[in-house]
Amino acid sequence: MTSWTARGGLAEATVDLDAIAHNTALLAARATAPVLAVVKADAFGHGMLPVTRTVLDAGATWLGVATNAEALRLREAGVTAPVLSWLHAHDEDFDAAILAGVDLGVSSAEHLERIAECATRVGTRAAVHLKVDTGLRRGGADHTAWRGLLDRAAWLQRRGRLLVRGVWSHLGAAGAPAASPPVGTQVRAFELALREARDAGLDPELRHLANSAATLTEPATHYDLVRVGIALYGVEPVAGRSGGLRPAMTLRSRTVLVKKVPAGEGVSYEHRYRTSGESTLALVPVGFADGVPRLASNRGAALLAGRRRPVAGLVAMDQLVLDLGRDEANLGDEVLVLGPGDDGEPTAAEWAAWAETNPHEVLTGIGARIPRRYLGGARATRELEELSLV
Ligand SMILES: *Cc1c(COP(=O)(O)O)cnc(C)c1O
Repeated sequence: MTSWTARGGLAEATVDLDAIAHNTALLAARATAPVLAVVKADAFGHGMLPVTRTVLDAGATWLGVATNAEALRLREAGVTAPVLSWLHAHDEDFDAAILAGVDLGVSSAEHLERIAECATRVGTRAAVHLKVDTGLRRGGADHTAWRGLLDRAAWLQRRGRLLVRGVWSHLGAAGAPAASPPVGTQVRAFELALREARDAGLDPELRHLANSAATLTEPATHYDLVRVGIALYGVEPVAGRSGGLRPAMTLRSRTVLVKKVPAGEGVSYEHRYRTSGESTLALVPVGFADGVPRLASNRGAALLAGRRRPVAGLVAMDQLVLDLGRDEANLGDEVLVLGPGDDGEPTAAEWAAWAETNPHEVLTGIGARIPRRYLGGARATRELEELSLV
């Protein structure tokens, strides 16, 4: 394979599948329950299919996605592992997902009725995971709706129209002990919801609550399945902790223009930056459309010739400028925008801090314009090449 630079490329993202395999194995070893790998949003920007092959090889047994479209993409690629999807419209057509054996997260009676109706139409039992709101106040049935949802689900299950395979909830502040809602409060609410499920005559095989942070720090939340996202991709989910995860994503580009400017020159839109002395400016062809956050203007940095160079002025849609001060640069010099940090390049966590967001947003923001190249993960990559999916 010729390199992206030989092909005249502007930037590429490499995804280290061996790192993802390592992280999967590490999480599986820490968890007291099987691992559901969250591969929504194109596997947090890493590529859903290569990541899926890798995590299944490395010990994950379930897959989690937000939407049915994502779940069906997995099935169309031949993935037969159990898949749970959890974000649906109340009037969605669930037929294809039910026929494809996709498990469905359910937070309301309206969704439950619709799923039962679709299951009846296609003549198959739908497998559902009833979701309770234990304090996040986002998805999930709240306590007043929970009993009704359970009773109705039990009735539909008795009539063979669906199977309640799971009861689950989502944590709001695992890994941030000072923040709300506290994990302990959510666990107590979850226990109550589970007792109510038993009282309604349900005996779900899978109870699940933990995300990445809770998988690493809160064993009491593991139950029968842990749902891990960000940690699979090598980002430490608990600030300040360092637990052997390996970041998988590297975003690199190269200079496409180099110029010398005098001291005091304004740089980029609106001149929000001024050179402090005579400076070499390097133009790098990645911008906010590629996932470099605009909020990191005048804050971020990238590695060029072994040193971090500050982002000068506003990040534009397609490009940004680095100030090299008195140093020189050549056309085509490599620029490491984001990576594991091994050579001093900024990490997703650092970009997140500069942009006042979380690493999830940084990674999922890496744009579709940036080609992905896969390293390692021999089996996963070979299979995908055979299917011409990479
Ligand atoms: C995205 C998501 C996860 C993964 O969370 P991380 O913090 O990235 O591990 C788990 N469960 C649900 C319901 C999610 O939406």
